Amino acid sequence: MVAPALPTDEADRLRAVYRYEILDTAPEEAFDRIVSLAHQVFDVPMVQLNIIDQDRQWCKAWYGIELAEANRSFSICAHTILIDAVMVIEDTTTDRRFAANPLVTGAPYIRFYAGAPLRTSDGYNIGTLCLTDRRPRAFSAREQSCLVEMAAMVMNQMPMRLAARKLQLTESVLQEVTRRVATVPGDGFLHVLIEKLTTVLNVRYALIAELIPDDPRRGRTLSVWAEGRTQPNFLFRLRDTLAEKIVAQKIRYIAHGVSAHFANDPFVQVGEQVESLMGVVLEDNAGKPLGLLVVMDDHPLAEETLIASLLRLFAIRTATEMERLRAEEALRQSEQNYRTLFENADDAILIFEPSAGIILEANDKACQTYGYPRIELVGMSIAQISENADEDEARVWHALQGPHQQSFETRQRANDGRVRDMQVHLSVVAYAGAIAILSINRDITERKQTEERLTYDALHDSLTGLPNRACFLDRLGQAIQRPNSGFAVLFMDLDRFKNINDSLGHDVGDQLLIATARRLESSLRPGDTVARLGGDEFTVLLENIAQDTEAIEVAERIHRALTVPVKLERHEVFTAASIGIAISEPGYHTPEEVIRDADTAMYRAKAHGKGRHELFDTGMHRNAVRLLQLETDLRRAVDWEAFQLHFQPIVSLSTGKIISFEALVRWSHPRRGLIPPADFIPVAEETGLIVPIGTWALREACSQMRRWQDRLPAARDLTISVNLSPKQVMQPDFPGHVRRILEETRLPAQALRLEITESLTMERAADAAVVLGILHDMGISLCFDDFGTGYSSLSVLHRFPMDALKIDRSFVSRMGETDENVEIVRAILTLARNLGREVVAEGVETEQQLAQLAALECDAVQGYYLSRPVDHDAAEALIVATTPPWSMIAWGRDGNTPPM
Ligand code: C2E
Ligand code: CA
Ligand code: CA
Repeated sequence: MVAPALPTDEADRLRAVYRYEILDTAPEEAFDRIVSLAHQVFDVPMVQLNIIDQDRQWCKAWYGIELAEANRSFSICAHTILIDAVMVIEDTTTDRRFAANPLVTGAPYIRFYAGAPLRTSDGYNIGTLCLTDRRPRAFSAREQSCLVEMAAMVMNQMPMRLAARKLQLTESVLQEVTRRVATVPGDGFLHVLIEKLTTVLNVRYALIAELIPDDPRRGRTLSVWAEGRTQPNFLFRLRDTLAEKIVAQKIRYIAHGVSAHFANDPFVQVGEQVESLMGVVLEDNAGKPLGLLVVMDDHPLAEETLIASLLRLFAIRTATEMERLRAEEALRQSEQNYRTLFENADDAILIFEPSAGIILEANDKACQTYGYPRIELVGMSIAQISENADEDEARVWHALQGPHQQSFETRQRANDGRVRDMQVHLSVVAYAGAIAILSINRDITERKQTEERLTYDALHDSLTGLPNRACFLDRLGQAIQRPNSGFAVLFMDLDRFKNINDSLGHDVGDQLLIATARRLESSLRPGDTVARLGGDEFTVLLENIAQDTEAIEVAERIHRALTVPVKLERHEVFTAASIGIAISEPGYHTPEEVIRDADTAMYRAKAHGKGRHELFDTGMHRNAVRLLQLETDLRRAVDWEAFQLHFQPIVSLSTGKIISFEALVRWSHPRRGLIPPADFIPVAEETGLIVPIGTWALREACSQMRRWQDRLPAARDLTISVNLSPKQVMQPDFPGHVRRILEETRLPAQALRLEITESLTMERAADAAVVLGILHDMGISLCFDDFGTGYSSLSVLHRFPMDALKIDRSFVSRMGETDENVEIVRAILTLARNLGREVVAEGVETEQQLAQLAALECDAVQGYYLSRPVDHDAAEALIVATTPPWSMIAWGRDGNTPPM
């Protein structure tokens, strides 16, 4: 027996054999049919379809003989595969090669053999389709070519059955992979996939790579398979690589010489000797490339179209998984981010379960804020840290109801017992498959305290700590809103506070205000409000007042409290206050209205003397309104110089002749006609308008007198008496001012007499003395007006350079009543005469008064009995009259008519 030789390309041939995966597999119907057909066509008892592997002959299908496998060394077919034609042995017993073959000498006693090689498309004979008989026979050329056809039919079946098989395998692998996806975490599944892939496709190397999402120039492998196991992953660039080509062309196959041609390609480094490579691009749903799936082998890939389609199937599956992995990774990353945020947040973050409020998670800040170690905090109930558990619970419930998040401020208690103000933000989250509450809590204790301090500061007076105006307005506003509950507002102004401030200094002034505040507080009932409006003004709000008397009682209590002197540093200070009271009434709508009325009443109280109180009545309001209107009108009148002078003669008692005229201002009001000074001088004094009015009067009086003197000989020796307000006198450089007016009007100083009231000399005596001295030195004569009404009159007569004094009307008018009044006038006259002062009596209204004054040897008289103040024309008539109205009057010491 001659053993069969090996084909020259036996290794490649063997690979071709294995590629069809036909050995050791179940019988297949398609092959059985061909074998059966051959039996009928050739009329032979036995037909076999044999595959020859390394050392055996495998029977894939047979007819009439069952010989599953045989040793290659005595396989007749092993000889057939060495030739490309049909091998025919008509009688084995006569063929030297086979005569001793055990298949010839023993069962099945083969005498005849005809076999056609099974030839692959790439030229390898993997086996035979052979006919055998137990007796010798001939095999014609026609029969031979028929057998070759049948062998070709077998080989046509091969790729089809292989493809079917592979597909089946692929499907089962994919199914398995799908099953495994659920259990294999992360990209572990990719390793499973790649391992299966190499098995199914029967390749040595495979890899899955992704294109790095944020870096279009690079990729990285996710799983690499070589030498029967998973290999380390690597990064690679895309430019000028096979990867780039695969991405560009979607699928690429290189059958030969991959290592030789692409020696430096990163993929090629995976295997020692890469001959062939097939790669497909992995795409997402939208067709955007995600990565690559590559298989490589150290031989050309057989059945490349089949592999290509299988690879595509894997690619679809892989791309899906890769997308899932990426989504998972993104989720993991964002969860990681949340974790990081959670752990590092500057707010205390708690996650708790909504029904019992059990804390499930707490971050570091929460542990710090509440002062518990995490192990304790987690597991505690949210109610254990809450100060308003019921309210907070309601909020949680609320958060659970709607889509809205809940934000609110609350108070929470830390482990050390300290209660903190917290800003809480609740939202509903999914946690471990259930609903939970995420609570982000910020400690706002400090902010709260600052806010409270600011609010307090905004509503309180920093000096006394009492509520301030804003606060008072607010509380009063609320009191106005409350119907059926009476209230009263006391407006209080310290008397002479300015004096104390000026003379003792601001520190003492401040202390006095503080002491006053404390006394006020102690005079009030608990619910009442006392506020400092500013300066030395305080207000009190009394609520639930039923009767005016209650408010008056409080005012009296305040007066009493203030009568006790205050000890401040080295001084003992006496204070008093004027209090105005406004009682609630339906007409009040704003707090300002109430305060305004109380203020008005306070002014009234002050006007009646210090340390008093006054209840507001509507008359006061009308008056206040009237005064306000008056002030407005008066300002306009000053602008327009809407004033005129009337003149009242002052007559000498010894001669009966006019010695002077007193100039008296009148305001010619467009609607009200001539307004007497009593109605507007006080307002003018208060507002300072007296200065321009007085200046006008002075200039007008001087120029009038000058005109009379120029024209009327009888006026040569007359003087003009002009009234001065203390405010005018205390103007800077008042004497210079008077001098300029005298110069302007060309009136000799001797023709001017200035009338000054006592209050001037009392208030700033030293300054007043200087100014009056200068005026006196200028030649102007000075007269004390309203003499006797003040207390210091008699003493000041010595200290000021006065030429005359005018006995006040009140003394003159009362002279008839008692002798006592006459005696006062006499005393004044005696004193004045001793000091060399001239005396004028004003307000002489009766003949009797005139006679008495004459008897007392008063120097001059002025009054309605002689003449009312008259305009300049009437005054001029009096100057030139040879027999003035009073020339008929009999007077004199003895009731005689004075000498004319
Ligand atoms: P006065 O300086 O005491 O002026 C005298 C006032 O007594 C004048 O009132 C005059 O009309 C009034 N009178 C004169 N004789 C009689 C009389 O027999 N019986 C009564 N009952 N009254 C008499 P008048 O003009 O209303 O002036 C009131 C006050 O206005 C003046 O009082 C004076 O203090 C002030 N006044 C008037 N003109 C000026 C002025 O130009 N400048 C300043 N600063 N004050 C002025
Ligand atoms: Ca006067
Ligand atoms: Ca007077």
